[in-house]
Amino acid sequence: MPAELMDGIAVARAIRAEVAAAVLVQRARGVVPGLAVVLVGEDAASAVYVRNKGRACEEAGMHSVTIRMPATASQSELLSVVDRLNADPAIHGMLVQMPLPKQCNADEVIRRIDPAKDVDGFHPINAGKLIIGETDGFAPCTPAGVMELLRRCKVPTVGAEVVIVGRSNIVGKPMASLLVQPGVDATVTICHSRTRDLHAHTRRADILIAALGRPRFVTADMVKPGATVIDVGINRVDEPRAKNGYVLAGDVDFVSVSEVAGRITPVPGGVGPLTIAMLLRSTLMAAARVSVA
Ligand code: NDP
Repeated sequence: MPAELMDGIAVARAIRAEVAAAVLVQRARGVVPGLAVVLVGEDAASAVYVRNKGRACEEAGMHSVTIRMPATASQSELLSVVDRLNADPAIHGMLVQMPLPKQCNADEVIRRIDPAKDVDGFHPINAGKLIIGETDGFAPCTPAGVMELLRRCKVPTVGAEVVIVGRSNIVGKPMASLLVQPGVDATVTICHSRTRDLHAHTRRADILIAALGRPRFVTADMVKPGATVIDVGINRVDEPRAKNGYVLAGDVDFVSVSEVAGRITPVPGGVGPLTIAMLLRSTLMAAARVSVA
């Protein structure tokens, strides 16, 4: 029987509606949650993400600022923009869109962002809070979105075997931290490019999370029948017949895996829409913390 589709668009829509309702309450108290996004250079994919973030903010009733800097911007110019946003009371959340041009040092930029405004959750303070289970930080938006998807689709996690393929700081590692927290209580394995016998791990998973950036890498033989398969991957694959010359593919071979899995996220329309929804929610949280402080 084909797997049940987990509809990320519907879940994201619900979260965005909740955020918009809470923004109205904040505005009535005189606080308009504000998000600033800094884009350095002209990377086409980044420009699309940034535009979508701005639109989503405005739709939720938030204040949105996009700061575009040329690809030649220096590290010190970028740091001074971050400093200015750190000091701006109308900005509650900010992020610097990655990747940055070569002359900029992403680690230094991330560390310069006020952790209370770091709605991407990349600052070491927020990464540390996530690991120790402190809830007054920010979790990175993509793994936080996967957690919402699991919760709202009622996927049981207590005692579940979860296998994550990918160990990046923005997806794999924070995903694991969220899943092992008390209350979620999954048993988590993180795999990476040096993992021996990857199939043996993935086939054990009740919940398999693919975040490795290799189009259609996870095939049906790697999946336990009935498993929940979450595809974080977004890859452009050349397709001469497509309008843009490419199609988007996940890290999971959707056609074969959906014949084996119990539930599966599509690409597009799965995890992707949740990332922006969670960014809005984090910005709202940042504003709410300031307004009660
Ligand atoms: P990274 O390139 O930073 O990390 C990829 C990870 O996958 C690494 O840990 C790497 O291992 C591991 N890996 C690569 N090849 C293999 C392999 N053959 N077997 C096992 N492990 C492997 O990617 P990201 O975490 O940034 O992104 C992962 C995917 O998620 C991408 O497709 C990206 O586009 C997508 N993404 C989607 C988002 C969304 O909003 N839905 C947001 C962020 C990312 P090692 O460490 O050993 O090199």
